[in-house]
Amino acid sequence: MSSSFSAKVNTLVFTDLDGTLLNHDDYSYQAALPAIERLREQNIPLILVSSKTRAEMAELCSELNITDPYVCENGSLIVMPDAWVKTMGLDTDGFTFSDGAWQFVQGADRQHITALLTDLKSRFEFTGFADMSVNQVIDCTGLSEQGAAQAKQRFATEPMLWHDSSAALDEFAQQLSMHDLRVVKGGRFYHVMAYCDKSDAVRYLLDTYESHYGAKVKSIALGDSPNDLVMLKEVDQAVVMPHKDGTYMHDNELLGEIRAPQEGASGWRAGVEAALQKLRNGEDA
Ligand SMILES: [Mg+2]
Repeated sequence: MSSSFSAKVNTLVFTDLDGTLLNHDDYSYQAALPAIERLREQNIPLILVSSKTRAEMAELCSELNITDPYVCENGSLIVMPDAWVKTMGLDTDGFTFSDGAWQFVQGADRQHITALLTDLKSRFEFTGFADMSVNQVIDCTGLSEQGAAQAKQRFATEPMLWHDSSAALDEFAQQLSMHDLRVVKGGRFYHVMAYCDKSDAVRYLLDTYESHYGAKVKSIALGDSPNDLVMLKEVDQAVVMPHKDGTYMHDNELLGEIRAPQEGASGWRAGVEAALQKLRNGEDA
């Protein structure tokens, strides 16, 4: 292979964070570092895709020295470093710029969401993140003060605590749908957001790379939860991470997936290596 090919990206790795790149218990990524280094050497971008906010993810990207784009708020927000946008030659129409990076809201703007929620407050009982102080967020999440402040900095989704009946929730969801919004159940929170998900962001980034290089780019994705499924189905090679109890998410439409041998960072490392090997074997075949 000629050296001019070395700068060309021919594979992308997309990864969920909690329970996937990060250990369940201590959130450590230490055991994954050798594989992250290997990706860097092979010029394979590592794209983080999470329900976390930009503020939460920016910190992790800087710790890991990642200069590739990343996807926040469950696919609703894509953050793209300025240098990357210039390399790709992207038109920044509709993007906004802050802290050295462009961002693009794929879903609904949070202001649109919170304005509608304010209207609905007279009819339903709920508390959104926008209504909570940092201390109240700490109380209901267990996050640190800095973590709670970062979790509150949202652009395209609004978590809320639901205090009303389940019949009222159905009616609430109906009201949202009239404004092209939906409510998604998370752990403790319900999330109000547009009809977009992790797969939309993955497709957007894959398309951007492919049109820039004028060639098909191979893709790998790693995840552990139902909100990762759409992303896992979008790529060439899915890697499913085990839950803490050793079980794996299963879906009939998921074909040829690799099951990582352990949860968290060490399983992630093994999963990435197995996926790269499998793509390489496919090339040789
Ligand atoms: Mg996860």
